Amino acid sequence: MTTLSTPGLAPVEPIEPPETGWGLVYGGGGHEPVNGKYSDIESSIDGSVVASVPNADRDDLDRAIDSARQAAKEWAKVAPSQRVGLLDAFADRLLEANERLGWLDTINAGMPISATRMEAAYGARMIKSHARLAEEIKGATFPQANGIWGYSTREAYGLVGHILPFNHPSLGTCSAIGSALATGNGVVLKPSEFTPLSSLEIGRIAQEVFPAGLVSVLTGDGASIGNAISEHSAIPRISFTGSIRTGRLVMRAAAEELKHVTLELGGKGPLAILPDVDVALAVEMAVGGMNFRGVQAGQSCQSTSRVLVHESMYDTFCERLVQALGEVKIGDPRDPATEMGALAFRQHFARVRDYIDIGQRQGARLLAGGGTPDRFESGFFVEPTAFADVDRGMRIANEEIFGPVVSIMKWSTEDELIEIANGVEYGLTARIACGDLGPGLRLANEIEAGRLWINTANGGPSGMPFGGFKHSGVGKAGDFESLVSYTREKAISVVL
Ligand code: NAD
Repeated sequence: MTTLSTPGLAPVEPIEPPETGWGLVYGGGGHEPVNGKYSDIESSIDGSVVASVPNADRDDLDRAIDSARQAAKEWAKVAPSQRVGLLDAFADRLLEANERLGWLDTINAGMPISATRMEAAYGARMIKSHARLAEEIKGATFPQANGIWGYSTREAYGLVGHILPFNHPSLGTCSAIGSALATGNGVVLKPSEFTPLSSLEIGRIAQEVFPAGLVSVLTGDGASIGNAISEHSAIPRISFTGSIRTGRLVMRAAAEELKHVTLELGGKGPLAILPDVDVALAVEMAVGGMNFRGVQAGQSCQSTSRVLVHESMYDTFCERLVQALGEVKIGDPRDPATEMGALAFRQHFARVRDYIDIGQRQGARLLAGGGTPDRFESGFFVEPTAFADVDRGMRIANEEIFGPVVSIMKWSTEDELIEIANGVEYGLTARIACGDLGPGLRLANEIEAGRLWINTANGGPSGMPFGGFKHSGVGKAGDFESLVSYTREKAISVVL
């Protein structure tokens, strides 16, 4: 039974554009695209068009870079303490604009308003923390040898290109701008063509705080502006977050210029449920680990979308999971009581529904959800969905669906569990639910993933590294070292 937070949907009004319009953000102002092309942005709540944004290409990037290069050169010379002051002021401006930023992601991407506001505020706080951490980035000195002394410094790259996925639009934008600017770089950012509004707004606010040209936000398709950023010779450092398929394209495009590229890619994480765990904890981790609630509606790279349950508790677990999924309040994302909203855009909605069909066609047992709640048919809503009896050969056991769909599989021996857990190309996250910690820790050693949780769905200290093994990525995000990776080291010998 689906739990609704709201009985139906009121029509969505077009979003009020900023005073200067939804122009491309570069050179200290807003700009029309050189090619004159715009794309409509639909609201996930009901599919209505709520804005129209520029479709930038290489010509716009060249113009942005004209001013960005010089701005970045000067910014690199600004004392870190002064940078902190401006980054703090920027973060404060974002906090003042919190309601609007949350609203943009809610209307554009169908994310619950309570979660989008929280996420935008978290993004602002992250900028403050990047600023302080960056003050700690230092070089080294080396013992002198034969009258020659050595030291190293860390300096900015100049321009960092950030290419973002459609989920976490405001948080991703804050993190991209914060990490680049805190380390003395300028930034050229491309949001997803499907969820660009909060990024444009954040970029516009950044222009009011930072020197002209330092922050550029260029909206448009991946194949044109995304590719142009990846290959442009003036952008030596690329940070990409998105799918494996696009990650490969970005790496190839960046190869000609031998750029420093980090890739944060997809996941198909396992949640391993060991026989001695309390079933209530196992269910809590399955629901929390799938990120049904909050901004994601299951659209999270971190989700453990394969739940591997020991045969001894399989039936009980399935029964209890169905109950728990029925308690997730799906509804109008504008309603503060809503816990789970819509999927982010039309094509993705169709893709997730295709996977639900594929799961059924290939013989998995639809345990819960699978449809759109009554009275929400005009938007991109999918109920929390679970498949049981998923076989290792099925597509829903191997491919990232990136929606609110979980695949449950049964295991009997530890060897079998490890084989299933590691049997996909992904290696981003894993969760382990166990009673005795010993077997859980042993399993954590065996699982090929970059980020794991034992007996908690999402908790953990801040500043932990996040990034994938295998095809899930190259490099890390979220920790001090990843901030350092936006600088390059220079080693100098000097005769005393
Ligand atoms: P996507 O790969 O389709 O698009 C990501 C970005 O790349 C978009 O801005 C897109 O326009 C751009 N792009 C597309 N083609 C391009 C090209 N040829 N050159 C340069 N850029 C191009 O991904 P998506 O659907 O937006 O996001 C979902 C994916 O992102 C999932 O696989 C998810 O797991 C992953 N993701 C990973 C992390 C992480 O931290 N590992 C975080 C969030 C999302």
